[in-house]
Amino acid sequence: MRYGLAIIGSGGAAFAAAITARDAGAPVVMIERGTTGGTCVNTGCVPSKALLAAAAARHAASDQRFPGIATSAGPADMAAVTRGKDELVTAMRAGKYTDLAADYGWEITAGTARFTGNAGAPRLQVSLGDGGTVSIEAGHYLIATGAAPWIPPAGGLEQAGYLTSATAMQLTGLPESMLVIGGNAVGLEMAQLFARLGTRVTIAEAAGRLAPFEEPEVSAAIEDALDDEGIAIDTAATVMPVRREARGRSVRIRTAGEADRELPYGQVLVAAGRRPATAGLNLDAVGVKAGRHGEVLTDSRQRTANPRIWAAGDVTGGPQFVYVAAAQGSVAAGNALLHSERQVDYTALPRVIFTSPAIASAGLTEAELLALRVPCDCRVVPLEAVPRAVAARDTRGVVKLVAEAGTGRIRGAHIVADGAGEVITAAVYAIRAQMTVTDLAGTWAPYLTMSESLRLAAQAFTRDITRLSCCAF
Ligand SMILES: Cc1cc2nc3c(=O)[nH]c(=O)nc-3n(C[C@H](O)[C@H](O)[C@H](O)COP(=O)(O)OP(=O)(O)OC[C@H]3O[C@@H](n4cnc5c(N)ncnc54)[C@H](O)[C@@H]3O)c2cc1C
Repeated sequence: MRYGLAIIGSGGAAFAAAITARDAGAPVVMIERGTTGGTCVNTGCVPSKALLAAAAARHAASDQRFPGIATSAGPADMAAVTRGKDELVTAMRAGKYTDLAADYGWEITAGTARFTGNAGAPRLQVSLGDGGTVSIEAGHYLIATGAAPWIPPAGGLEQAGYLTSATAMQLTGLPESMLVIGGNAVGLEMAQLFARLGTRVTIAEAAGRLAPFEEPEVSAAIEDALDDEGIAIDTAATVMPVRREARGRSVRIRTAGEADRELPYGQVLVAAGRRPATAGLNLDAVGVKAGRHGEVLTDSRQRTANPRIWAAGDVTGGPQFVYVAAAQGSVAAGNALLHSERQVDYTALPRVIFTSPAIASAGLTEAELLALRVPCDCRVVPLEAVPRAVAARDTRGVVKLVAEAGTGRIRGAHIVADGAGEVITAAVYAIRAQMTVTDLAGTWAPYLTMSESLRLAAQAFTRDITRLSCCAF
């Protein structure tokens, strides 16, 4: 047997697993049917944040909120914007992925893998990118095949043509108008990105509010912020048949309690969630079980129903973040090759939606804590009470702390603010360290920083913070 570990996929989960396996001295092979590096670097985290930063620069140039500072923004040259993003992606793919494989010494085979053999003797058959097939045998296998966009069954989408986040970020011309189907992380980021570059954007979200998995106060704050920027928002909305027309697509939208509306859009971007990519892997043949949405079922140590086959990342149907994928990949490889019996600890797992203002959360929501039958005490502080936001003339947002009633132990933090993605790490530490609101209220936070908002929210448990002087203890 040539390999200790054979990995299907080359994204965050796969790379973390390969590094752990090579550190353990195991020979590794990785099979990738698309571009090395997977979603995050090629079509996910990196290009979206690069384009959001470009769009933010244009938006800042057209923002007249400071007296005496007159600026203006010209039209975006989308071909150049996309080219710049592509150059950045190419450099990061080399630096963080392809060069690493060479440094650590594992093979990347270009092709599509599927299992053959049986549960006792699993093998991989790889249809090579340049024709032909090879058979690969390893001591252990890791399924790290990621997820792919889920396309809702709105009649006519296939015929009318639609964008996903991946294809939208390849556009070389800006559409005049765009309907974004889906108002969660990817949909919100895409909506603001294109709106700030100059497209007229509408978001249609099936749930009753944007960012439906966040606190209601968070949803309200982001809806206000996006509405202020001119993004049209339809919640509790169902997209009815989509039709192709000479200059774009005609879409009928049904919103609860209102008459159906049929409107033209240059492009329709589908961001309605991502489902595990397991089609064609032939999991049954090797005794690997999958769930209702195709997610590979594992135990808490990332082991599938077959003791020699492991799974990590988006394909397992868990939280879709590259840091989760990497943690699971590393744990899987360690457990497979070193019998480490490790599990990923999800306590205070942070999540960020990179809109502006950004949405960031860690720990439990109020509803989640109450569902555990723990009495709950919460404080919500608007950014008008945060000196940093007032000085920057950007008070869009809110901070909510979720604590246990009685003990004051912090169980969750939820922030909408410029820089929320940076602030949330402090909340992760506070939750992990089992700090109380009293601890947090009495801990240093530099004045005129956004992180001070966490301390102010903690102080709000015992005081009226609108009546505090600066930096009060
Ligand atoms: C627009 C967007 C923005 C995002 N932004 C962020 C962010 O800011 N921060 C964050 O943490 N996360 C973000 N994510 C999520 C993050 O990208 C994913 O959670 C992460 O990349 C998943 O990694 P993975 O290793 O599980 O899978 P992937 O990176 O998707 O890798 C799976 C790979 O497997 C390959 N593959 C599939 N089937 C086969 C097969 N049969 N044979 C061979 N190869 C196969 C695929 O081609 C793919 O390259 C974003 C996602 C999107 C779509």
